[in-house]
Amino acid sequence: MRLQLYIDGAFVEPVSGAYMDVIDPAREEVFAQAAAACAADVEAAVTAARRAFDQGPWPRMSAGQRAALMRRVASAIRQDQHALAQLEVRDNGKPLKEALWDVSDAAYCFDFYADMAEKIEAEGEAAVDVGDARFACHVRKEPIGVVGAITPWNFPLLMAAWKVAPALAAGCSVVLKPSELCPLTCGELARYLHASGLPAGVFNLITGTGPEAGSQLAAHPGVDKVAFTGSQTTGSKIMAAAARDIRKISLELGGKSPFIIFADADLDKAVQWIQFGIFWNQGQVCSATSRVLVQRPLYAALVERLKAAAEAITIGPGDGDSVQMGPLVSAVQHARVMDAIAAGVHGGARLVSGGERPAHLAHGYFLQPTVFTDVPTDQALWREEVFGPVVCVNAFDSEAEAIAQANDSRYGLAGAVMSADLDRCGRVARALRAGVVWINCSQPTFTQLPWGGYKASGIGRELGRHGIEAFMEIKQITSFVTDEPWGWYPEKSIS
Ligand code: NAD
Repeated sequence: MRLQLYIDGAFVEPVSGAYMDVIDPAREEVFAQAAAACAADVEAAVTAARRAFDQGPWPRMSAGQRAALMRRVASAIRQDQHALAQLEVRDNGKPLKEALWDVSDAAYCFDFYADMAEKIEAEGEAAVDVGDARFACHVRKEPIGVVGAITPWNFPLLMAAWKVAPALAAGCSVVLKPSELCPLTCGELARYLHASGLPAGVFNLITGTGPEAGSQLAAHPGVDKVAFTGSQTTGSKIMAAAARDIRKISLELGGKSPFIIFADADLDKAVQWIQFGIFWNQGQVCSATSRVLVQRPLYAALVERLKAAAEAITIGPGDGDSVQMGPLVSAVQHARVMDAIAAGVHGGARLVSGGERPAHLAHGYFLQPTVFTDVPTDQALWREEVFGPVVCVNAFDSEAEAIAQANDSRYGLAGAVMSADLDRCGRVARALRAGVVWINCSQPTFTQLPWGGYKASGIGRELGRHGIEAFMEIKQITSFVTDEPWGWYPEKSIS
């Protein structure tokens, strides 16, 4: 399989002729190649997107016309869901069941924003009474322009859908730069968009590395908004590049999300949700609840149960039967997580379970689900994102202490609380400084709800109505509607 670039309505070779290897993380084998875009390719893609936006029909169509096309894309994704999910498994390593879930969410995202674009258009321009009858004023929304979308490898198709679907529905044109580690399902998305009849240049796919293709896209003066999901390090580079020309940005970055579990919680449910909160997608989830705070009376029993549950997880290639955890995405990511585990042990945290390559898997970037307890709260293991299946479990005594510890982080993407006392859950949910809070669960994510972080976890929101409004400008139109003279500079009498 060889993925070309998609620019101005056609699949094309990269200018340099260079391709990058795509590796199956379960087998450590090259199984595909993707074009390595350079500055000239980015230039061509942005030029096409610019022309499509400034002169083409797409932003001038009715929302209904755009929605019809988006719905065709949703149904194409659904039709191909098994093949797409298998490709995602091969590229990223995640278990098939999870990949199927991602693909179905991605399809829904196109349907959801088709509906939302129609809804916003139907609302029309809002009249605003400014308290002065000489003026009629309206507020309208317009597409923001050319969007540079830069996405990570952890949910390759879904993270692209979160940006591409609302941006297109809003009437924008898009240049998508997926992660070089997992670009393949975004190539399929380009095929569906092409087949749907999207005008040339409205969607462009640039595969390539971050430092080469990503940084060129983020700094290109023809891009009106950069929508980024990825690491804080890259997010800060994107913000610096945007600062030069005052370009708009949204940043969805990482986290170190807390999960507070009170002593009255059901032990089985707590263990289930802790596992889902940190082992799903091999823990490579921005909102993973990687810091678990357990009220002291439940602490020992919960740690024991969690250890047993973690050790019972079936690990193997994502396409294997009944596999619950696949490999990490790459050798680099595997080494990073192993380093974080070693540093945690060295820093005094107690390794209760995991921390090693599973004995039965000699190849592939596999790692056991890993549980630490009694983690010193000044250590990186407690404070920094590991982005792997590594959970820290500490004890607390009072509600106030739990909230203070949970909020003692430079991140604020997500948080969770579990208790039989729903008043307490509500109190804690409101006290957490995070953009997403789950009560009695962790991780369920819905397209209808806003997604994004407080503090260093990002800027802006995706999903929900916010997710499309993020790709719209707001314009006021103010009309002077009386024949009266303005009279600010009264004419002097000429007699
Ligand atoms: P990353 O920052 O390394 O890469 C993300 C994207 O940015 C890739 O496409 C990459 O090629 C590109 N990139 C890299 N350097 C660049 C540069 N200098 N200029 C422009 N683009 C550049 O992140 P990753 O390793 O792919 O993803 C993991 C990170 O993403 C984690 O920190 C995770 O928390 C975060 N994440 C956040 C969310 C969220 O919604 N908040 C969702 C998923 C992942």
